[in-house]
Amino acid sequence: MKEFWSSRIRALEPYTPGEQPRDRKWIKLNTNENPYPPSPRALEAVRAAAEAGLRLYPDPEASALREALAEFHGRKPEEVFVGNGSDEILAFCFQAFFGPEQPVVFPDITYSFYPVYAGLFGVPFRQIPLNEDFTLPVERFLGDNGGVVFPNPNAPTGIALPLAEVERIASGNPRAVVVIDEAYVDFGAESAAACLDRHPNLLVARTFSKSRALAGLRVGYALGSANLIAALNCVKNSFNSYTLDRVALAAAEASVRDRAYFEERRREVMATRTRTAARLEALGFEVCPSCANFLFVRHPDYGGKALYEGLRERGILVRRWDQRRVQDHLRITVGSEADMDALMDALSALTTRR
Ligand SMILES: *Cc1c(COP(=O)(O)O)cnc(C)c1O
Repeated sequence: MKEFWSSRIRALEPYTPGEQPRDRKWIKLNTNENPYPPSPRALEAVRAAAEAGLRLYPDPEASALREALAEFHGRKPEEVFVGNGSDEILAFCFQAFFGPEQPVVFPDITYSFYPVYAGLFGVPFRQIPLNEDFTLPVERFLGDNGGVVFPNPNAPTGIALPLAEVERIASGNPRAVVVIDEAYVDFGAESAAACLDRHPNLLVARTFSKSRALAGLRVGYALGSANLIAALNCVKNSFNSYTLDRVALAAAEASVRDRAYFEERRREVMATRTRTAARLEALGFEVCPSCANFLFVRHPDYGGKALYEGLRERGILVRRWDQRRVQDHLRITVGSEADMDALMDALSALTTRR
């Protein structure tokens, strides 16, 4: 194995996405997908775009989608970048803003794609331990870093950092780019998009995969100064001019323009989250205060591995990591009310001593 592989690729340990099994019907609470369908207007746009013909290349500048996003966020189109999922945007950020000279910093418990990108693009990194309660030690992110990246709310904890603290980190790294990965921000946290004008080094990454229920479409975007967006375009156009296809462009634009549907669905997820957190606490679980569409929980009397396996036997998939600090935690996606009823039945059975 690995014969002919370049030395750089041989040394990589790639990211492992949550499983997408097809062997049986699972209750899938392991990859933070939305339990509801996307906007019906997005589905109409998919059909229309396919029928209009896929013979021609898509718009390499994605102008219509960027205009819709600019309008939604009160920014200018040149302050918006779109990509094939926010994972691609994060990868472009590592190439555009971080270099071999100085380590980029991120938390020890966070999205596990960051160290993978660092390895792929030859960027040294330093992981900063979260506080005991999993909040972010803001002081330790200030200084002469090669860059900063973290999700807000953080994953897999769901804990949000107040905007004033995000701004402190941006001000405290005046010579580096600070990337805020807002994959879950629509579920109750404050977006740093509101303070872009004060921080030319701030870049916000967003996705259609969670709050817009379009994980299968692969669309993400970034908001930042025209200068930072130009750097992302420079990377993109040195790699692949057509990262978004015609179907994705049309459906994403329709989703952005359907504000009422977006509001209704994200509120529904947040209400289910509140109810589920209370039910889990009633069973004795410790639940991190979540501003995301998932709950990070542990039970003082039952190990994470046993609960994970018990749920699996009952047809319910959640996510768990072997990392020592969180090995007894489970990250559970907020699903439909019926999904949550099944989850609670299974967890009640698993946490009742026989
Ligand atoms: C889901 C997720 C992403 C990736 O989203 P895509 O747009 O589907 O690539 C990025 N960051 C975090 C923290 C996520 O949880």
